[in-house]
Amino acid sequence: MPPVVVVGGGLAGIAAAVRLIDAGRSVVLLETRKKLGGRATSFIDPRNAEVLDNCQHVLMGSCTNLIDLYERLGVLANIEWHRQIWWANPPHEHDVMRPGRLPAPAHFTISFLRLRFLERDDKRSIARAMWQLIRIGREGRQAWRGKSFAAFLDHTQQTKRARELFWEPIVTSACNVPCARTDAFHAMYVFQGGFLQDSWSPVMGLSAVPLWSLYDSAHRILKDAGGSLRTGVSAIALAFDGRRITGVVTNEGIVEASAVVAAVPPDRLAKLCSQVVRSADQRLARLEEFEFSPILGAHLFFAQPVLTTPHLVLPGRATHWLFDKGRDAQGRFHVHAVVSAADDWMALDESEITARLMRDIHWALPHTAGLQPEAVRTVKEKRATFACLPGSDALRPAACADGVRGGINNLFLAGDWCATDWPATMEGAVRSGYLAAQGVIAGRGLIADVPVAPLARLLGL
Ligand SMILES: Cc1cc2nc3c(=O)[nH]c(=O)nc-3n(C[C@H](O)[C@H](O)[C@H](O)COP(=O)(O)OP(=O)(O)OC[C@H]3O[C@@H](n4cnc5c(N)ncnc54)[C@H](O)[C@@H]3O)c2cc1C
Repeated sequence: MPPVVVVGGGLAGIAAAVRLIDAGRSVVLLETRKKLGGRATSFIDPRNAEVLDNCQHVLMGSCTNLIDLYERLGVLANIEWHRQIWWANPPHEHDVMRPGRLPAPAHFTISFLRLRFLERDDKRSIARAMWQLIRIGREGRQAWRGKSFAAFLDHTQQTKRARELFWEPIVTSACNVPCARTDAFHAMYVFQGGFLQDSWSPVMGLSAVPLWSLYDSAHRILKDAGGSLRTGVSAIALAFDGRRITGVVTNEGIVEASAVVAAVPPDRLAKLCSQVVRSADQRLARLEEFEFSPILGAHLFFAQPVLTTPHLVLPGRATHWLFDKGRDAQGRFHVHAVVSAADDWMALDESEITARLMRDIHWALPHTAGLQPEAVRTVKEKRATFACLPGSDALRPAACADGVRGGINNLFLAGDWCATDWPATMEGAVRSGYLAAQGVIAGRGLIADVPVAPLARLLGL
């Protein structure tokens, strides 16, 4: 039998390939670039040959499928876990949020009450919204599908400061669209599933190694199983006999396939499909309708230490996060700055970007006054993630054709943009890959979510 061909070596494609191999299937993984990882990867800076991540990638304890994939790849030990979230509060010491001893959903209560960058009214309004999120539970969240998260903030009468300093930084960095444009269903999950339901889910994971080295073992796993990883090979079209996909046409010839997992972004998938293929499968009908949202990442190198904590949230500022990346090969202090939903930054040049970032860094870290970076490398990702706008879930296709009228049964779709109930994240991508693999082998699908703590369940979550 011909192999299963997975097109696209991002997290969705890697996840699908690894699961298929575990089920004993022969797999060929095609990736147009030289390295795996797609958007969650690294690159070599041509200016000095340093390996830099495309952008800091954060996972959470709630990312059970991504954690499972890291385990299968043998790289979970490279993830460093952080229980604290540091918030800048100049000119004072940073504030910190950390799960305490109280049982979930009350585990953040003590550190939340101690936050000084929020005032009493702000905290009261946030507590009111959190209580609502607990009480409406996951079922209640469904009713907010298609509405903006800002509508929920209005509904729970949030103060202006609570919106700007608390909700906006969290939602914008988790969903990559601001509260006014995020589907409430997704933003609510960030708090219900990510913060409130238990004390492990909010723990933040950061890779201690360059992102692309997390995927090195995929090559060996594929080879040992008799499959192959073909990097530098681009899929050009899906070969279709009117009923089934028979192979993938590439720049190096045709690769026959018993099934295809298409794990590329929607615009790329549209290019692989002829009109005949698209009209045969309704899942392919709306590929051009996705909107995308940009992220700006900036690597800044300093002669002196800048951050005093592993990371820092900058509430109310254009720069959302700073991450301490340690020292580079030349001994310089490497800080990574991230701006999510960075539409306003895409047209700026590097010197203007640096000036804006430095204004925020000088604000957050007064001891850096007057300090300027020795070197800067900005990465603009204009189409970083699909925008999870109200109603956008209707565009997201299922992995399998089951139940789709006239669907192509041996074509499986994966990618962070497919239907997973997660916004565009690494976890969403891995989930989609596992669901696609499950479709091919009719085997076990997703890894179970982190269990909801007993009190949180009792209260409604
Ligand atoms: C700047 C930035 C910051 C982010 N930060 C976070 C974060 O902190 N936490 C988080 O969870 N998520 C984050 N994300 C989102 C996360 O990176 C993505 O959700 C995830 O990596 C998507 O994986 P994917 O496999 O669905 O798609 P992709 O990573 O896009 O993979 C698709 C792959 O297909 C390949 N391909 C395309 N066309 C072809 C073709 N014709 N033939 C062969 N191969 C092809 C591409 O080269 C690519 O490798 C961030 C994304 C960006 C851009």
